[in-house]
Amino acid sequence: MENCLFCKIASGTIESEMVYSDEHLFAIKDINPQAPTHLLIIPKKHFATLMDIEDSDQKLMGSVCTVAKSLAKKNDLEVSGFRLVVNCGSGAGQSVFHIHFHLLGGRPMKWPPG
Ligand code: 5GP
Ligand code: ZN
Repeated sequence: MENCLFCKIASGTIESEMVYSDEHLFAIKDINPQAPTHLLIIPKKHFATLMDIEDSDQKLMGSVCTVAKSLAKKNDLEVSGFRLVVNCGSGAGQSVFHIHFHLLGGRPMKWPPG
């Protein structure tokens, strides 16, 4: 996708420090962190929103959870806890239309979220 920020980061057109990368996923630090740990776990394949995934993407989406687990461990969030959040659509606060999963931790979290 030509004008997609996360596709450009995935392809290296825009430089960004990756805290994780494999064949299908990468993770970066959020530019505007909302918690002491705020990472974005991002599929390299472009999906505008969660509504664009298909049954054939189940394995990829499952691997987001195992990467989140390993990044949570790496950031010492196992005991204190963390959130894995997807904003789907502008009404839910999505601002970058390439699917991504926020991993937030390192401070107390309230429920319901704002
Ligand atoms: P959304 O609002 O779509 O759920 O989340 C998009 C996130 O991307 C926001 O938390 C925002 O701070 C982050 N973000 C936007 N532009 C950039 C950027 O250029 N680099 C990084 N690392 N994060 C970004
Ligand atoms: Zn994209």
